[in-house]
Amino acid sequence: MIKITKISGPLVTAQIQKNSGLEPKILETVFVGKTKLLGEIISIDTDILQIQVYEETGGMEVGEEIELKNELLSVELGPGLLSNIFDGIQRPLKAIEEVSPTFIRPGIHLPNLDRQKKWDFIPTIQIGDKIHSGQKLGYVEETSLLKHWILAPELDKHQEWIVEKVEVGQFTITDPVVIVKSDNETKEIPMMQKWPVKIARNFKQKLAPKKLFKTGQRVIDTMFPIILGARVSTPGPFGAGKTFTQQQVAKWSNAQVVVYVGCGERGNEMTEMVKLFPTLKDPVTGKPLMDRTCLIANTSNMPIAAREASIYTGITIAEYFRDMGYDVVLMADSTSRWAEALREISQRLGEMPSEEGYPAYLSSKISSFYERAGVVQTFSEDEGSVTVIGTVSPPGGDFSEPITQNSLKNSQVFLALDAGLAAKRHYPSINWNQSYSLYEEIFAELLEKEYSKEGKRYLEDRRKAKTILAREAELDELVKIVGMDGLDNYDRLILEVGKSLREDFLQQNGFDEIDTYCSFDKGMAMLRSIIGTLEEIEKALSRNEDNENFVAEFFDKEVRTTLTNMKYRQEIADVISDGEKIMDKAKSL
Ligand code: ADP
Ligand code: MG
Repeated sequence: MIKITKISGPLVTAQIQKNSGLEPKILETVFVGKTKLLGEIISIDTDILQIQVYEETGGMEVGEEIELKNELLSVELGPGLLSNIFDGIQRPLKAIEEVSPTFIRPGIHLPNLDRQKKWDFIPTIQIGDKIHSGQKLGYVEETSLLKHWILAPELDKHQEWIVEKVEVGQFTITDPVVIVKSDNETKEIPMMQKWPVKIARNFKQKLAPKKLFKTGQRVIDTMFPIILGARVSTPGPFGAGKTFTQQQVAKWSNAQVVVYVGCGERGNEMTEMVKLFPTLKDPVTGKPLMDRTCLIANTSNMPIAAREASIYTGITIAEYFRDMGYDVVLMADSTSRWAEALREISQRLGEMPSEEGYPAYLSSKISSFYERAGVVQTFSEDEGSVTVIGTVSPPGGDFSEPITQNSLKNSQVFLALDAGLAAKRHYPSINWNQSYSLYEEIFAELLEKEYSKEGKRYLEDRRKAKTILAREAELDELVKIVGMDGLDNYDRLILEVGKSLREDFLQQNGFDEIDTYCSFDKGMAMLRSIIGTLEEIEKALSRNEDNENFVAEFFDKEVRTTLTNMKYRQEIADVISDGEKIMDKAKSL
C-alpha cells in the first residue's frame, strides 16, 4: 500500500508501506486518494513519493491511498479530437458538462475520446500487405475539412508484420479494424492509440522547412515571415493583444489543423472562444473552422499542475496530425503561466531556485517543448509539420525576464507586442523595430518560386517599406527639433508614406468582416499600391522641384481616403485599380 502523508496544494507526499511489494516509477501516473484524482509521480526518494495532482486536492486527507496506474501520462489519439474541447489532461469538456454540470468535479473519469460513436473506416491496405509503425492503414472522414488517417501503432521493427484481416464499415474507436501477424505474435489494431505526452512522437526524418505559413495578418506575413514548422514566440505586456493575435492566426492561417491551448489565462477568454469559433467559417473552403480545430482549455481557475500537462497534451495531438502528413499549428497562450506553475511546484518541492525563483531545469523544459516543432517526413513518406506559436506574458512587459529570454533563444520568429502601440490603438501592436524573423532568405526563395516576377517585386517593395519605416522614425525625431518647415519634399514624402504604411497597411482591424483576414495576394497588392505611389511621386517631384508644398498637396483627401479604404476592399482587382488611380495622378503632375 502507498499512503498519503502530506498534502500541499497540488503536491502530495506519500509513503510506500513496508513489504507492499510495490515499485512505483518516476513519471508514472497514479490515482490519488478516495476520489481517485489523477496524479503523476515527480520524485522518488527511497520510500517517499512526491506526486503532482492534476485536479483540486481540497477535501483530501492524510492516510488516503495511492493507486499505481502503471502508465505514463498519456493522451488518446483517434477520431473525435477535432471540433472538440478538452481540459489540460484531455478530459472532454462538453461531455463532462453533461455528467457534472457547471464545473468539472474532481475524480470524474470519462473516456477522453467518445467510445460510443461509430466512424466509417475505409482501409487503404489489403490482406497480405507488409506494414510498419506509423504507416497509414485507412481513414475516416472525421469532419468536413479533414480525413483522419488511422496510423499503425508502434510495431517491433525486428519482426515482419503482415495484415491478416481488414474491416470496412462502421466502428467505434476501440473496435479492432486491422489485425496484423508476425511469426510469433498477433495484434488487433483499433482506430485509437495512446501516446505518452512527454515523449516526442517518432517520424522518419526531419526536413528543412520549405512552405510559407500564411497567417492572413499583413504585418506578420509581410514583415516577419513564418515558415511552416517554425517556432514562434509572441511576448507582450497585459492587454497588448497576444490572445487576440493568437486567435486571429488560429482562425485564418493556412494550417490544415489548429490545436489551441489556453494555458492558465482567464476562463472568460476561453469561454468566448468556445462560443465564437463554432460560428466561424474557413476563408478558403467556407466550411466550419471548428472542423479543423481542437481546443484545450486549462484556464486560471483550473488546477495549476494541469497547465504543464495541457502544453504537452497539445503538442502531442499536434504531432499526431503531423504524422498523417498535415500542416499543423500549435498555439500556446500563455507559456508564462506554464512556467509559473513549474515554479510553484518546484518551490513546494523545496528545490533550489534559480533566476527569479524559477527552477534550474526551466530552460531545458522550454527548449524541449519548442524542439517538437518542425517539418518531418512521416513513416508513410508524407511531409507534415508542426508550427509552434507561444505567447509570453512578462510581468510589467519587461522582456529581460527569464521566460521571454528563454523563448527568444528557442524561436526563429519573434513577434514583440508593444503596449505603446496598443495604447495608440495600433493593432496588431507588433513592434516592427523589435520583432524579427530568421527566415528572410528562405522567404525570398519561396516567394520567387511561388509568385515568380511578382514575388521579386514584392520582396523589393517590402525592403523599401522597411527602409521607409526606419527613416520615418528618424525624421519624427528630427521634426521635434526643427519642425516640419525644416524638411524638404523628399522627407515629407517619407513621412506621408510611412504614415500610410503604418495606418493603411500594417494596422489591421480584427473586428472588420473583411479586414480581419487579408490574403497574401491582397497584402502584396496593397503594398504595391503604396510603394508604387511613392515611386511615382518621386518621379513627379523631380518635375516639380519648385513647388514646396507638392507632397502636402498631393496627399489630398481623395488620395488619403483611397489609401485608407484599400484594406476594406474585398476584391484584389479593386485594390490594384485604387493604386493605379493614385499612381496615375502622380504621373499626370
Ligand atoms: P493580451 O492577451 O496581450 O493581454 P488581448 O489579446 O486580450 O491582450 O487584447 C486586448 C484587446 O486589444 C482586445 O480585446 C482587442 O480589443 C484589442 N485588439 C488586439 N488586437 C487587435 C486587432 N488586431 N484588431 C482589433 N483589436 C485588437
Ligand atoms: Mg491574453
